[in-house]
Order: sequence, then C-alpha cells, then structure tokens
Amino acid sequence: MKKFYNNLTMEFNVIFFILKLTNKYSKAFLPLTILLALVSSFLTIYNLLMSRKIIDELILGKQLNKLLEIIILLLGVNVLIHLIKSIILRWLQAKNRFIKKRFNLEINKKTMTMDYEYMENPKILDAKERATSGINQSGGINTFTNNIRTIITCICTIMGLLYILNDLSIVIILILIITIIFNYIAERKRQKAEYNFWQKNARNNKMFSYLDGEVIKDYKASKYIRLYDSSEMILSRYRQFDKNSQSLFRLIASSNKKHYLVINILDYGQKFIIYFTLALKVISEPSKFTIGSFTMYTSALYNLISSITKMFKSAVKIKYTCKYMKLYKEFIELPPILCKNNEHIPADTNYSIQFNNVSFAYPGMDKLVLKNVNINITPKQKLSIVGLNGAGKTTFIKLVMRLYDPKNGEILLNGNNIKNYNYREYQDVFGVVFQDSNILSFTVKENICFENSSSNQDDIVVECLKNAGVGDKIDALENGMDTYVDRIFDDNGIEFSGGEIQKIAIARAMYKNASIMIFDEPTASLDPLAEFEIFNTLHELTDGKTAIFISHRLSSTRICDCIAVFHNGEIIQYGSHDELMKDREGKYYKMFMAQAQYYVSNDEVSCT
Ligand code: ADP
Repeated sequence: MKKFYNNLTMEFNVIFFILKLTNKYSKAFLPLTILLALVSSFLTIYNLLMSRKIIDELILGKQLNKLLEIIILLLGVNVLIHLIKSIILRWLQAKNRFIKKRFNLEINKKTMTMDYEYMENPKILDAKERATSGINQSGGINTFTNNIRTIITCICTIMGLLYILNDLSIVIILILIITIIFNYIAERKRQKAEYNFWQKNARNNKMFSYLDGEVIKDYKASKYIRLYDSSEMILSRYRQFDKNSQSLFRLIASSNKKHYLVINILDYGQKFIIYFTLALKVISEPSKFTIGSFTMYTSALYNLISSITKMFKSAVKIKYTCKYMKLYKEFIELPPILCKNNEHIPADTNYSIQFNNVSFAYPGMDKLVLKNVNINITPKQKLSIVGLNGAGKTTFIKLVMRLYDPKNGEILLNGNNIKNYNYREYQDVFGVVFQDSNILSFTVKENICFENSSSNQDDIVVECLKNAGVGDKIDALENGMDTYVDRIFDDNGIEFSGGEIQKIAIARAMYKNASIMIFDEPTASLDPLAEFEIFNTLHELTDGKTAIFISHRLSSTRICDCIAVFHNGEIIQYGSHDELMKDREGKYYKMFMAQAQYYVSNDEVSCT
C-alpha cells in the first residue's frame, strides 16, 4: 500500500512538473487544451439531447417545420464546434512541436550549465541520455499532453452524461461501472500475458533472424555451410526454434481465448443491462420514457462506457510515460555540487593562487590523484608544470579553475578560500587553452568573442589573431574573421589545420584578457619549430600576467620563472630550469635530457 501511495505521489509530482514547464513555454497551451476538452464533450452531450428531440418529433410531433428547425440547429452547432475544434487542434499540434523542442532545449541548457563534475560522471551522462529519450520515446511529451487532454475530455463528458442519466437508477450506473472495471482488468491481464509471450518468444525470433539473415542468406557463411556440410544441423536448429515458438503461440492463444471469453461475457452483460432496463422503463413509464429517450439513454450509456474505458486507458498511458518523464525531471533537477558563495573577486588583478595541503580523488574513486599539494603561484609568475602522463597536471588545473573542489586542504585566491567567491566572477579570472581546443562550427570571430554581431570588438579580435600568429591567414580569406571554421553551416567555410585551430584557440584566450592565463598543452598539435615560436609569443603575450603552462616538450619550460614537477599526484621538484638541471638525479633532469636528444646533437645536449 505504501509503495502504491509513493508511486502515486511520484506520478502526481511528475505530472505537475511537466504541466508547469508546459505552461512556462506556452501560457495558452493548457487553457486551450481545457477549452478543446470542454467543447468536445459539450458536442457529445448536445448531439445526444438533440437525437432525442428529433426522434420524438418524428414519432410524436410530426411537424416538418419544427423538425427542420432542430436539424438545422443541430448541423449549425456541429459545424461551428468542429470549426472551433479544428482551429484549436491545429494550434495545439504546432505548439506541441514547439514545446517538445523546448523540453529538449532545457536538457541542453542543463548540460551546458550544470557543474562540470557531472560532465565527467558516466552515470550522469547516462541519465542525460535517458532523460532525452524520456521526452522523445513512446510518443514522449506529445503523447503525454494528448493523454492529459483525453482524460479532461472524458471527465467532462462523463459529468455531462451523468447529468443526462440522472433519471436512471444510480444502481444501474454503478453496476455498469463495475462491469467496465472488470472488463478493464480482464483486458489488462490479456495484454500482460501477451507482453510476456513476446518477451519469451524474443529469443526464438532473435534466433530466426540470426539463422535467416546472418547464416542462410549471408554469402560468406554459405562457403562454410557447404564445406562442412552443416545445412542439416542448421535446419534442425530452425525446426527446434519453430517448435518452441509454436508451443508458445499455442499457450498464448489458449490464454487469449479465456480472456476474450470473460471480456465478451462482460460486454454482452453490459448490453443486456442497458437494453433490458431501458425497455422496462419505456414500457412501465411510456409518458416519461419516450422512444427518443430510449435512443438517447442507450447512446448515453454506451458513451459512458467508452468514456470511462478511454479515461482508464489514458491514465495507464500517463502512468507509463511518467516513468520516462521522471528521468527527465530528475536530470533537470540535478542539484549543484559546488557550494557557491557570493563574495566579489578583488578588483586588483594581481592575483596569487595558493594550494594548502590539497588532496583530490575523482568522485566515486578512492585513489588520490593529487596528494598533499602545496604551491604558491605569485602574481605575474610564469609557472611551468611538467610530469609524465597521468601525473595529475590537468587535474591540478581543474582544481585551480574550480571545476572540482579539493577533497582535503584548501585553495586560496589572494588569501581567501576560492569557495567564498562568486563562481562566475571566479571563472572570469582565467583564460584557458586546452589541448583539445574545441573550436565550434561558427565563424572565427564568434569562436573568439562568443558574441553574435557586435562589430566594435573587431579591432581587438584582429589584434588577438595577429598575436596568436594566425592574423595573415585570416586576413587573406575572402570573409576574413567572418569565415566559418568548417562547412557544417556554410559551404564556403574553411577547414583549418590543427595548428591554425590551436592558434585561434589561443587568440580566444587572449581576447578574454583574463588575469591568469592557463595553457594546457596548447601546442600539442604543432611541430617543434611552430611550438617554439608560439611559446615565445605566449611569453610576450602573457607579459605582466600570471601564466601556467603545461607542455610535454620541456624546451618550453625555459621561458618560465618556475617549474613544478608532478609525479604520481605530488610535486616532487620545484624551482627554476637552471636550479632543477643541477640535480642530475632528479626527475626533471632525466626528462629534459631524454627529450633533448630528439632535437639536438649529443654535443649540444652535453652543453645544456
Ligand atoms: P596528466 O594531465 O598529468 O596527464 P591527469 O590529471 O589528466 O594527468 O590525470 C591524473 C589521473 O587521474 C590519471 O590516473 C587519470 O586516469 C585520472 N583521471 C583523469 N580524469 C579523470 C576523471 N574524470 N575521472 C577519473 N579519473 C580521472
């Protein structure tokens, strides 16, 4: 009982959530849905009442004028209501598409704005996929709103019918409702049995399609079938699966037979109750129960049965879609992980970043990826971070940028824990270039300033492109910085090389004019010479700014004031290039020498 109650509460919550969102996207959608339900049920009731009038006029009144009057009125109202219904329906269908798109957009918005930590969590990425299919599968959100409309229509019609059937004994109506419920239960049982049958038969079907498609019809397999004379074995498998399938079919046929018997008995029972009780009324009270009334009541009772059945069916469909919508609701309502405070970032842009005993493990993992890291990055310092793959360099950067919070220890900006700052303002402190520069299929300019049309920033964009070393290339293009970076949106787009893309990404970071610049292997796709050139440029560009560089190519460390050597999540060496090179047993010296031999002759290496 508790489970039933919990499920019901969950379903109502989901329905309320979806309706609230629908109302947010279109204020007119729900009122018009209700209006459509009202006019539909009004028409059903109106036609029933008019049918009695017409028949009674035919049998009792027999006045042609009156009859014509009723028929014209009936037709007029029908035409008018159908017109109203089709206008509303067309509008609702168009809005349905719009609303579905907005529901999808909400997922995209959530994906782009939720805490980064979620983006690296496979469970959450899975939840996102399920949320997307939740509002698109099995008719999705549109089926959901259509079923809500059916339920409202049925409720209104049932109320109208009960009003018409007021003259009949309540006992008859109750008996009918009970038979409807039994009928419904029998139908559900039949569907469930059929569903189980298809589940059981799925294996046979899978085997059939395997034997048919991949064994018998596949020409590659045909060689082996002949070579190993395996046709008899394959056919015997075929026969075996066919036998299994046939016995399952026999079982479902016999179970269906039983269910249909119950359903038919209940159907005929309903018909008997309707005709018998109404005929009795007409015979016992002929002045009150005319032939017209008989026709009207019969139709009204049939309508009552079909409206209640339809209402149940729609309720079940909603219950079913709620399971999917729940996944959508859960994803959209994922709570923030990072605690976000509101202290302003200091106006003075000379920022220092300090790690105090920082340890970190990725969510759901026990292994510490950073262990007791202590480092102080002073204002305007150029820090190079080096280490083997998996040493924790990128993770360190993620913590600096507050994509994750440390498990232990604290990170300070100008002496204040970074958790205290306004998150957006804190993110604005950094300009970053990652190895995967992630340039979007928009124009060069849009990729740099992420603004659509403003032209007053053009000069700065041009300067940044020039400084990043790609200015000439862009200048030479017909559409200049308005050129698309590939051909997805524009046939005249240009496919830039990996190095050029990386330079555009560097221009983007420069454009942000952030106080602390971070370059996480920004030159990974460049050749050593281009890399050297870019590192020199970056050195000039970051003059007067704090900058953190990660590069596998240790030649770049020479432009930095300080080098931190990461190993297994710890900083094992710290100092300038010259200081670290003195320690011939140290990791840095070994790494540097191992790399240097690829670029210079042995003589040069020994002089370093
Ligand atoms: P580096 O940048 O030095 O190559 P990383 O900081 O990328 O190293 O990775 C450090 C360790 O953390 C590696 O063992 C890596 O497998 C692990 N790691 C990186 N990202 C994740 C993640 N999102 N989830 C779990 N483990 C991760």
